[in-house]
Amino acid sequence: MSPDQPSSMQWWWMLAALVVVAVLMSILRAWLDARQRSADAQQGHGRAPPPVPAPDKPTNQVLDPLTGLSTRLWLEDQLAAAVMRAEARQRHLALLYIDLDGFKPVNDSFGYASGDALLREVGHRLASMGRGTDTIARMGADEFLMLLDGDPDSASAALVADRVRHKLQIPYVVAGREVRLSCSIGIVMYPEHGPRAKLIARADAAMLAAKHSGGNMHCFFDASMDHDAQGTIDLQRDLRRAIESHTGLELYYQPKIDGRTGDLTGAEALLRWHHPERGMVSPAVFIPIAERFGLIGALGQWVTDDACRQVRAWLDQGLSMHVAINLSVHQLRQSDLVEKIQESLTRYRVPAELITFEVTESAAMEDAKASLRIFERLSQIGVHLSIDDFGTGYSSLSYLRKLPATQLKIDRSFVQDVDKEEDAKAIVRAVIKLAHALGLSVVAEGVETEAQQSILMRQGCNELQGFLFAKPMPAKNLFLWASGDELPSRRPNFHPSVFNKDDADASGTSS
Ligand code: C2E
Ligand code: CA
Ligand code: CA
Repeated sequence: MSPDQPSSMQWWWMLAALVVVAVLMSILRAWLDARQRSADAQQGHGRAPPPVPAPDKPTNQVLDPLTGLSTRLWLEDQLAAAVMRAEARQRHLALLYIDLDGFKPVNDSFGYASGDALLREVGHRLASMGRGTDTIARMGADEFLMLLDGDPDSASAALVADRVRHKLQIPYVVAGREVRLSCSIGIVMYPEHGPRAKLIARADAAMLAAKHSGGNMHCFFDASMDHDAQGTIDLQRDLRRAIESHTGLELYYQPKIDGRTGDLTGAEALLRWHHPERGMVSPAVFIPIAERFGLIGALGQWVTDDACRQVRAWLDQGLSMHVAINLSVHQLRQSDLVEKIQESLTRYRVPAELITFEVTESAAMEDAKASLRIFERLSQIGVHLSIDDFGTGYSSLSYLRKLPATQLKIDRSFVQDVDKEEDAKAIVRAVIKLAHALGLSVVAEGVETEAQQSILMRQGCNELQGFLFAKPMPAKNLFLWASGDELPSRRPNFHPSVFNKDDADASGTSS
């Protein structure tokens, strides 16, 4: 054995040392594991059920799919919890309502895909500004909320608002072009500006005040701003409930009349909402709220489904009614719109040619290329398309020519003046000529007097709709009206296609 080589005694010592190190390491690992388990268990008891994800890591149910920010619902939960904590610890909260200035023109000129890309970038920028306990959510199209939960005072909330404004002002690149945006911000402080239930509405009111003062600024809430905002927020909450529970919503139907023969040619479905306390709320009020708060997809789907259900019920009673359904511009952006419509047609075995979708001229032209794609897919499933409120938007004639529409509706504002003002008459004449040249049939809406009726008929208008013939009415009244049991003074005759001659359509299936 050379002097450099370890003796057998030394081998034993080295082996023993290795064993001791291994034992020590396994004890250490076991201890670390136990510590982690106890921390996990404590965390598990920290929050009340139901098991919600940690606030800084929302799961899919609480994420806005476009921006990856929290959803409005998740923010409302967080706000409720934050208010309870703030109350218990005598701390403050701030809520910032952020609305982009001038987002719509970007959407209009660059198209939805670019608009979406821009919103995603806004989302990234906002997300990068939140601190650990803050929650940032997307409220609606281009509206965001930021909940500051680190005991802010109004000076620090204003500072955050300024930082947000500056960050969102950094130019964006949209479709290879530089775009600049600003934003308006409304701020509420808790507890200074009211109870939890009013905070979002009041932040919204303060945001609108900032916008009305020219935008690109922030405003704190004050009592003078409190008139309409709470009403809007309450209505969106009630509307959400109505849609979820399918209560209080009803389709009314307004007849369309053949201008030449006076026959009934079909009916337009118009949505009505019977509010439990406010009574009937106008669609002119609640449709914009549904659009703004992301409810229009579900609402529009309910409308299509219920109209198909009604058409089927009428078919079963021997009435083959053509029904027109209004589509919102927001529905045109829904990726599964055509599939959902097809599902309703199939569910109720409704022949697609009995259904017309009305899209306003301004909606159709907002992203003309995207509209064209959707319209082509809709016409492939066999439904008709109608351009609504024509004359109020800016049509590109080249797109109008390409749209697979079959009908054009002259806006009520021109019809109203057609018997009084020469320019309205000239516009109506020109629109009818244009429509006929494009192979479209023309409906005049809002016909209220016989003078209007006779001018429109002389000018070659194909169909008329308006209070002169009938107001929108519940489905059962339309059936009585159509079958002659309820005879208003101006009840027209019926277009031969309205009643089934041989009930062939009664078992019709969708194409
Ligand atoms: P619209 O599509 O232009 O519908 C025509 C509106 O004019 C209806 O108002 C109808 O009641 C009213 N009207 C019809 N004839 C006359 C008339 O002779 N004189 C006057 N003064 N008004 C007349 P309504 O039902 O209040 O609906 C307002 C708007 O709400 C609709 O305008 C449409 O844009 C929207 N809307 C209604 N239902 C739906 C729906 O189911 N989905 C969507 N997306 N929008 C809807
Ligand atoms: Ca319409
Ligand atoms: Ca219209």
